[in-house]
Amino acid sequence: MSKVIVSSLYNSDVFRMACRQFDKAADAINLPETIRDRTKYPRRCLAVALPIKREDGSITVFEGYRVQHNLSTGPSKGGIRFHQSVTIGEVAALAMWMSWKCSLVGLPYGGAKGGVICDPNQLSQSELEHLARRYMQEMVNFVGPHVDVPAPDVGTNEKIMGWMMDTYSNHVGHLSPAVVTGKPIAIGGSQGRREATGAGVAYLTRKYLEDMKIPLSKTTVAIQGFGNVGSEAALALASYGAKIIAISDYTGAYYNPKGIPLKKALSYVQYQRVLRDFDGGEPITNEELLELKCTVLVPAALERVITEKNAAQLKCRLLAEAANGPTTNAADRILEERGDIEVIPDVLCNAGGVIVSYFEWLQNLSNFYWDRSEVLEKLFAILDKAKDSVEAQKRKFKFSRRLAALTLGIQRVAEAKQSRGLFP
Ligand code: NAD
Repeated sequence: MSKVIVSSLYNSDVFRMACRQFDKAADAINLPETIRDRTKYPRRCLAVALPIKREDGSITVFEGYRVQHNLSTGPSKGGIRFHQSVTIGEVAALAMWMSWKCSLVGLPYGGAKGGVICDPNQLSQSELEHLARRYMQEMVNFVGPHVDVPAPDVGTNEKIMGWMMDTYSNHVGHLSPAVVTGKPIAIGGSQGRREATGAGVAYLTRKYLEDMKIPLSKTTVAIQGFGNVGSEAALALASYGAKIIAISDYTGAYYNPKGIPLKKALSYVQYQRVLRDFDGGEPITNEELLELKCTVLVPAALERVITEKNAAQLKCRLLAEAANGPTTNAADRILEERGDIEVIPDVLCNAGGVIVSYFEWLQNLSNFYWDRSEVLEKLFAILDKAKDSVEAQKRKFKFSRRLAALTLGIQRVAEAKQSRGLFP
């Protein structure tokens, strides 16, 4: 019997949610008690204070974290989030999901995640650069191309990854592009990385719609979150022939039954930063967006937006989880009981980002660069394989699709830990 000795460090709604998902999956595959806690809990974390000189001469100390969940199957991998609601528990949950995701799609990585409690919209470009560089400086001994490889997440982007790579490289004394992924192409970023997560979401959505025999020409889509993932998913789904009828960001949501003018929305966001007062659709609330009648609902913002309060009201046929952890455990039970909504679980649905991050890392390590078509072809091949394995697991054990995906991911991590044995 293993004994659970867990501190309250990560205690939070979202960490408990990730733990409950793990427990359910571990029970479903009878994961031996001796391996459960080793597989479940994060391996290690670092919390740092980040003092930044502001434009007005004052100093603000921000708090940042990095949680490495699993280092048994390769370096750990996962994004860095800049958001005011970041907590160490949230970062730990996101790191845990990264482990199952990498394992599910067969990448030689463990999971990790980072975060800084800040509102990037309230920082000037130079304050943002100082924060990004200071965060990486504090992480120099904790990350590295063969230790832990960060990437962008909510509130971070290519530019920030570039500053972090530069900071790390200056510390080690030579160019080290493989320390982070999601960089600008000019300094070792991969073709196709910026659009990878959204493109993967759209590709899998198309595949599942085919299985459901719903033509793309009759598909309507509502998307919550119009950042990197939401906007790229919108563009890719529209290019397949679907109609995007609603989009949103944290300032509000917009509905247009004739189709949101996407190019207009993208240039609006590029100049205004947010969708506030966008006139390409009727203003609605984010809550109303989630309950719109549509073929596909794509949550592409934050965790825990589909809850026991709205799960019974969803009117989509397919829920494509572009965000990490958008559906609470209680909502999941309601969706399972309803049985009329197909779910593409987050660990499968948004895996395109980490898959192309893996390609970027490989290109950096080998100094040999691929073109966009090669990147996308390889991405879709991995997603096809992962989808097939999830469907086979679902059929074989009569699991929900989420349980099928999680059990596959968890099983492989547990097997790797078992094979390596316990040190010393
Ligand atoms: P982003 O910062 O580029 O965009 C986030 C978007 O969500 C913004 O439009 C923001 O305004 C919106 N948002 C925030 N709070 C909201 C709210 N309460 N209601 C409506 N909209 C809200 O971040 P991103 O990189 O697009 O990430 C979005 C999601 O996708 C996150 O869950 C992230 O973990 C996940 N994800 C990202 C990647 C990646 O490669 N960037 C990969 C896998 C998963």
